[in-house]
Amino acid sequence: MRPSLLNPLFASAAGLPGIGPKTGKLFDRLFERTSAAAPDTRLIDLLFHMPHAVIDRRQRVKIADAVPDRMVLFEARVAEHRPPPPRSKAPYKVLVEDETGDVLLVFFLANHQWIEKSLPLGATRWISGKLELWDGYRQIVHPDRVLDADGLAKLPPVEPVYPLTEGLHLRMLGKAIDAALTKVPALPEWHSDFVTKSPDFPSFKDALTQIHRPPTPEAIGLEQPAWLRLALDELLANQLALVMMRTHMRQTAGRANTASGALAAQIEKALPFTLTRSQVEAFAEIKSDLGEAKRMLRLLQGDVGSGKTLVALLAMASVVEAGHQAALMAPTEILARQHYETIAPFAEAAGLRLAILTGRDKSTARQKVLAALAEGEIDILIGTHALFQEAVAFRDLALAVVDEQHRFGVHQRLALGRKGEAVDVLVMTATPIPRTLVLTYFGDMDVSVLRDKPAGRQPIETRALPLDRIGDVVARLAAAIAKGTRAYWVCPLVEESELIDVAAAQERFATLQRIFGGKVGLLHGKMKGKDKDETMEAFASGAIQILVATTVIEVGVDVPEATIIVIEHAERFGLAQLHQLRGRVGRGKGKSSCLLLYKTPLGETAKSRIEIMRETEDGFRIAEEDLRLRGEGEVLGTRQSGTPGFRLARLEVHGALLTLARQEAQMIMKDNPRLEGPRGEALRILLHLFERDEAIKLLRAG
Ligand code: ADP
Ligand code: MG
Repeated sequence: MRPSLLNPLFASAAGLPGIGPKTGKLFDRLFERTSAAAPDTRLIDLLFHMPHAVIDRRQRVKIADAVPDRMVLFEARVAEHRPPPPRSKAPYKVLVEDETGDVLLVFFLANHQWIEKSLPLGATRWISGKLELWDGYRQIVHPDRVLDADGLAKLPPVEPVYPLTEGLHLRMLGKAIDAALTKVPALPEWHSDFVTKSPDFPSFKDALTQIHRPPTPEAIGLEQPAWLRLALDELLANQLALVMMRTHMRQTAGRANTASGALAAQIEKALPFTLTRSQVEAFAEIKSDLGEAKRMLRLLQGDVGSGKTLVALLAMASVVEAGHQAALMAPTEILARQHYETIAPFAEAAGLRLAILTGRDKSTARQKVLAALAEGEIDILIGTHALFQEAVAFRDLALAVVDEQHRFGVHQRLALGRKGEAVDVLVMTATPIPRTLVLTYFGDMDVSVLRDKPAGRQPIETRALPLDRIGDVVARLAAAIAKGTRAYWVCPLVEESELIDVAAAQERFATLQRIFGGKVGLLHGKMKGKDKDETMEAFASGAIQILVATTVIEVGVDVPEATIIVIEHAERFGLAQLHQLRGRVGRGKGKSSCLLLYKTPLGETAKSRIEIMRETEDGFRIAEEDLRLRGEGEVLGTRQSGTPGFRLARLEVHGALLTLARQEAQMIMKDNPRLEGPRGEALRILLHLFERDEAIKLLRAG
């Protein structure tokens, strides 16, 4: 239960000044509070919305000294009204002056009454806005404020500027945040004395106040005390939750797994290739974990195509040999089926009994799988998040492999871990997460890395072309298709509306179909599962040679014969995503190429991204560059998938705080593992404040 102290912060913001029935929708859009699970904007959303700039009203100028193209604030007398002729679309102009010069205020589609009332002839007014020079005259189009002396006195001298959404004005947002700020309770301090003894360490409430009512423009800086404190709060909540989970897993003792390795050896013998050195090492590390009487929590990190699935199979075979069951969970149905297909032939060679369970399996087939699972007649179950469901009961689950972990929350990881007694957990990720982020997302896990790629892989040739050369690309594609090549054609997902994106993919499918006829297939997220499978199978078998797809193919889809990938509107993708997509080719023996089609003109960031893609295939380097270019949230695609990212901390600036937060979290778990006493109380409040409170449940369970 959330401490009642925090209730005001988690209450709906509807009804606050600036948030009416209509504007409420704009707020909900800005804060992505539009789903059934997250319906309304809450006060906490407003308070954690950070400014990115300020308007500084402390500088007041004489008109002659005002610098063009800047926000200025000056006092002037209203000298002349120049309304447009009747029925004209011309702007309403008002000339104002001081003793040094004059400025023309320009209002398009003006409300005449408002102008006459706000700027009466002969009156003195404070005016702020962006001054421009137009034809040698000073002018301000739509001044930001027109105020008398009383009005000016009421305005903050330094006003924060926030990210907005279309239709939402800064003034409305500012008003709402201001109102929210008055409801922030004084909260007990959760940081240790070691941290708070620093002289300019503000309280949580003061930090929020300094950010939203900055006394100086500098006060909102990322490296200023207010933001540093809030970032540290968020990072501590994050690290504490992770350490608590880890501690919980350690406390519940594991089982020593006594496999000799005969089954794994049998699988290895059946492989048409030899394991890479990284694969051998990773498997050895996993085997050693499994053999110990404590629970494994290991991350298997490896670039696309580095052969993680195979390592997972060897690990699963080890627990099966010891008489237990294993499960492998994938984020999508396509992936689950693909894992099944990759694993099936090798599993068969070793006599392993394999089954698959996804959300859409028919009830009779499903019942059969569930019964067999409970009886222990299935050794390895592969599936989607359907594996979490209540009805799924294993006879003796010993190892849970979770693929592409960052798409699942901590919740799910725990849920699967609860399906058996002392389940060992192996998390696989194809995203080469930079070291700073491993800590953040996975916490205190052991890590195995697959660095080398299977032998015989050739480098992928990456080229970038403007979209208007699409004709050349199609011609090149035609030549390759005639030789039997298989190709992906990726259309972007733009967050606005999945339906529109699907429509774009359908349109591209139609144009390519006109050229290539039945050789083209279409795959997108809105298709029925059965249709998706059929399309994937047709592509895998070569019945179709061009697969037009949305980003559903981003993760893990494996057709080694595909050697060309065309990515349309490459400028709309993040680096990590481009890298994942490119990883769909270069998986077999053939020479592969990747064509990035971009829309001109290219922005600076998009240009850098495309250059990096052309320069390197090293996923780790790409991940680091991505972090540098875009900030942490998008490295993992959290913004799209909605996994908890950070709202306040910016790892490119606050990376050092992460280490501090981690040390604090470890100290807390050592000194006060059940979060007792006043400090424990305060820390529980912190976990709730940042919605990391699922970790608190472990205290009761453990
Ligand atoms: P990942 O999951 O890391 O993207 P996979 O495990 O799906 O990679 O492997 C990609 C492809 O490479 C699969 O077709 C797999 O059979 C093959 N593969 C795995 N290990 C090796 C190896 N050591 N040598 C050659 N091919 C391999
Ligand atoms: Mg894989």
